[in-house]
Amino acid sequence: MTSYRSVDEKCGYLFDGSISVLDNLPRQQTDSPSFKEQGACYCGAVTLAFDPACISRILHCHCSQCRRLSGAAFSTWVSIGRDALQVSNEDGLATFDVTPNVTRNFCKRCGTHAFSASKQHDAIRGIPAGILNSQQLVAPQGHYFVDDCVPWNRVPDDLPRYGGPSGFEPLARVNQLASGSQGAEPQLDTEPRLASVLLELKAREPIFHRPEWGTSRPQFEGMTTDDFWEIGASGQRYSRDFVLDTLEQRHATPHQDIWETRDFHCREIAPSNYLLTYTLIQGDRVTRRSTIWRHTPSDWKIVFHQGTVVEAATPSATER
Ligand SMILES: [Zn+2]
Ligand SMILES: [Zn+2]
Repeated sequence: MTSYRSVDEKCGYLFDGSISVLDNLPRQQTDSPSFKEQGACYCGAVTLAFDPACISRILHCHCSQCRRLSGAAFSTWVSIGRDALQVSNEDGLATFDVTPNVTRNFCKRCGTHAFSASKQHDAIRGIPAGILNSQQLVAPQGHYFVDDCVPWNRVPDDLPRYGGPSGFEPLARVNQLASGSQGAEPQLDTEPRLASVLLELKAREPIFHRPEWGTSRPQFEGMTTDDFWEIGASGQRYSRDFVLDTLEQRHATPHQDIWETRDFHCREIAPSNYLLTYTLIQGDRVTRRSTIWRHTPSDWKIVFHQGTVVEAATPSATER
């Protein structure tokens, strides 16, 4: 079996679910992209043509995967809608699976990295900014995985910086959350034997916010046990029927759904039953989440879920 380095923590940069799927959608969808901009590998065997109107995000990634794969201090990525990108000579490409989900495509002849693709978010491609012919297009929006930044590279500009365990949290927020802990936080390390379970479950969280696992009532029924229930952030208890009704209404109309997750921890609480805990960030709202997952012969099913809002840090004397 192939082994992967840092498979669940590092550079899924654009794709892997550390940040919201919808946040990564192309800024403009168009039925007739104009492929007026070009990029090329060093030797010219592989060329790209793309519609700059369909660029959704440009970011600097300082993660250790990008460093190692590029040999440089960081990589700068242009995210673009798959259908707005044409590749001239696919036979000229070799591929490498960086993670089970993310594949990088290289020129067979000169080794230039041409683009990356993800199984989970197949509508997006990531292009290394340096191979674009017109560098005027490249207007990066932020630095990610800043905690991994090499000591010999000073982040040189005033762009927003993101870091923390996921690499995608605004650093001000990371500091705020960390300062609330004051050493009171538990040390949460998932046992190595549960690494593959953790990876599978992370890909399913936050539950009911992952269109790739389903948006219809039968699909939500299929992913929950018959006796599923949850405790909302308000403390209210909700039945499975109520939750499914709410989800049905939510998915009946297009809606914006921007989120980030971090701090995943997995514990086996009984054979084939797992407690998954994590932090969910939705704008200014931060909640701690717990899901009990059951591995059944047919699929993973959710037994129970709870969310608790993280209040502003308070002195421990006020805790009761
Ligand atoms: Zn990276
Ligand atoms: Zn080449």
